[in-house]
Amino acid sequence: MENNSKQLYTAYCDLMQKAADINYASAVLGWDQEVYMPPKGADARGRQLSTLAGQAHEVLTSDKLEQLLKELSISEDLTDTEMSNVRLSLEDFEKNKKLSPAFVEELSKQTSECFNAWIEARKKNDFSVFAPSLAKMIELKRKQAVLYGYEVHPYDALLDEYEKGATVAMLDPVFAGIREQLPPILDKIKTAKQVDNSFFHQNFPKQKQWDFSIEVLKKMGFDFEAGRQDYSEHPFTTSFAATDVRITTRVDEDNYTSMLWSCIHEGGHALYEQGLPEDQYGLPLGSPVSLGIHESQSRFWENCIGRGFDFWKFFYPQLQKQFPEQLGNVTLDAFYKAANRVAPSLIRTEADEVTYHFHVMIRYEIEKALMDGSLSAQDLPARWNEMYYKYLGIKPADDKTGVLQDVHWSHGSFGYFPTYTLGSFYAAQFFNQAQQDIKDLNAHVANGEFKELLLWLREKVHKHGRRYASEELCERITGKKLDTSFFIRYIQAKYKEIYGV
Ligand code: MG
Repeated sequence: MENNSKQLYTAYCDLMQKAADINYASAVLGWDQEVYMPPKGADARGRQLSTLAGQAHEVLTSDKLEQLLKELSISEDLTDTEMSNVRLSLEDFEKNKKLSPAFVEELSKQTSECFNAWIEARKKNDFSVFAPSLAKMIELKRKQAVLYGYEVHPYDALLDEYEKGATVAMLDPVFAGIREQLPPILDKIKTAKQVDNSFFHQNFPKQKQWDFSIEVLKKMGFDFEAGRQDYSEHPFTTSFAATDVRITTRVDEDNYTSMLWSCIHEGGHALYEQGLPEDQYGLPLGSPVSLGIHESQSRFWENCIGRGFDFWKFFYPQLQKQFPEQLGNVTLDAFYKAANRVAPSLIRTEADEVTYHFHVMIRYEIEKALMDGSLSAQDLPARWNEMYYKYLGIKPADDKTGVLQDVHWSHGSFGYFPTYTLGSFYAAQFFNQAQQDIKDLNAHVANGEFKELLLWLREKVHKHGRRYASEELCERITGKKLDTSFFIRYIQAKYKEIYGV
């Protein structure tokens, strides 16, 4: 009997890992598509990705897998780890089964087409180049929501893909909280003397920016024997195994803030992927919990650590050495304040920690409207501009700095954006806990010592894979479910120091 269970479990692992091989191979092609692929390669790449998506889906929805999962789920001979894998795989199986292979291939094809249209539209700075492709994508996503099924709002079915259990009913109060609690903080900051960040807008040569980012990533603990950094249109992290994790970046030579914090951000994502257990390759316990938790790791490094005073106590002298003409006369204090300057701006990825959440809230409201059919693709730019004016008091001058700035919709990733805000909130709560758990954390950071911090993250978050769901994980780490007051207190303390308000 026991032997039989072990055999079944091995057969289950074989199937799951075969699907993972296909999915990771797709990820290599997807990475190449955004990093190296010449424009004429787009059509062929689209069909290759579509074929692979279909094949992985076939394995993951096969009768063979279903039978294995059903038998294993009533077996009493499995270890805790094995049982967790089986339980989560069965949940995934039931979800995957709701989409036909034809639908999966169609979605994959549309994703490639839509991504290429987005690249083209950005080049021409013209949303209308993207609109027809996006409209098709929105139709497919609405169809997908129906196929998955939902109780209240079609958007719920899509949110669940990125953050299991998240719904409009759960997120509406979170974003309403942002609309209530952040404006008073922002208003106070507006009354204070604005910090100077003009020195960021000098010429910072590309290669030197690149070199410094590599040094920072190494210090954080990014393993370059198990990953690399490259350039792409839009920074991202992707993984082909815990032992091969890729991050990308872009450089603006006339704006130093564009690259570095984005590298630290992607570095945080990458450390999570590199910290997943290798022996769980292709299985739920070898995969990240959710995008919200993923983003908590990137925001933790980017903001709580990478925009902290202690971090720059260590790195700033090195940065000054790298850029003596640009930063030689700028004090550490001035640099730190500039790195945390708060001001409404158009580009989400470059927004400060306070106004950032308005960018997310706007996308959340727009996605809800696109999914319930009350907004169409062609009316998107007008709605976008109107909301930016309402919440941030600014209006984009063109599509590139407005509605075309993010890659997500071209990928069909509706439901993704809210995880950015959830991630920031989890990050603030985890940071609070890390400061209690790690003796002299501030001193470690000020000495450029990140080993103990990384170990803490490995133990608390990375090594568990999907063993615990987001809220459960948060409770295990901090003794509490997600509590947004940690974030509010974190920014109140930070900006009191910077703006004296
Ligand atoms: Mg991220």
